[in-house]
Amino acid sequence: MSVSSRPARGTLYIVSAPSGAGKTSLVGALLDSVEDVEVSVSHTTRQPRPGEVDGIDYHFVSAETFLGMIEDGKLLEHAKVFDNFYGTALASVNERLDAGFDVILEIDWQGARQVRAAVPDCRSVFILPPSRTELERRLRGRGQDSEEVIERRLRDAESDCTHYREYDYTVVNAEFDQALRDLASIFRSNRLRTVEQEIRSADTLNNLLAGARASA
Ligand code: GDP
Ligand code: ADP
Ligand code: 5GP
Repeated sequence: MSVSSRPARGTLYIVSAPSGAGKTSLVGALLDSVEDVEVSVSHTTRQPRPGEVDGIDYHFVSAETFLGMIEDGKLLEHAKVFDNFYGTALASVNERLDAGFDVILEIDWQGARQVRAAVPDCRSVFILPPSRTELERRLRGRGQDSEEVIERRLRDAESDCTHYREYDYTVVNAEFDQALRDLASIFRSNRLRTVEQEIRSADTLNNLLAGARASA
């Protein structure tokens, strides 16, 4: 029996981190260094930051629209983070996975729990900053949030970090390029699993095992 060559269904990834740890920067760089990976654009009720674009960074929606999406069962997960609602639309994620792309959800630990329950074969990664001082420096250095928002995020960082054990992988974002290599290696090694290679490298396997498969 030969195996037909077809794109494997993609893997769903969760990436979480305390705000300011570098999650968005690392995921952005990952998209440039590993093929066939996409990031899901979340819906949120928070106000856009300077430079954020609707439909690219987030789908910025009203609380009314967001609550309607929950009622209509359109969200794979949702959570309230720092007083705003955030959520992942189910249909677009499924469509991209079916097309063979790995899809990243940049979501908080509450959403991660919901996704693990709904999609048990997802993989999850927690990104840690190298220290409290560095986290504060990055949050301030980003220069996009008010002092009040920064203080709230710093206060919540420790409780966010307590959830790292719920994740399959932990990446420490000290030196950016090293953290990016670590993150990329998670995606690459997942694609080298034998169950994945049976699909991705079906032509090679058919060629090497032609005789054995014909007599089976
Ligand atoms: P940043 O992570 O500091 O850049 O801040 P964001 O405003 O982009 O994200 C705020 C929080 O909301 C983070 O903890 C995200 O992981 C979380 N978040 C973003 N999108 C989603 C989502 O679709 N679902 C859930 N559950 N959480 C989300
Ligand atoms: P998050 O999405 O986790 O809130 P960001 O990706 O917005 O974090 O990163 C927060 C700030 O820290 C940004 O200004 C980013 O350029 C910076 N940053 C990210 N990773 C590093 C790193 N390894 N070293 C120094 N600065 C970093
Ligand atoms: P920010 O407001 O800085 O963009 O995001 C704050 C937090 O919300 C981050 O920790 C981010 O991971 C989380 N977040 C963003 N989108 C979603 C989402 O769709 N679902 C969940 N659960 N969390 C999200």
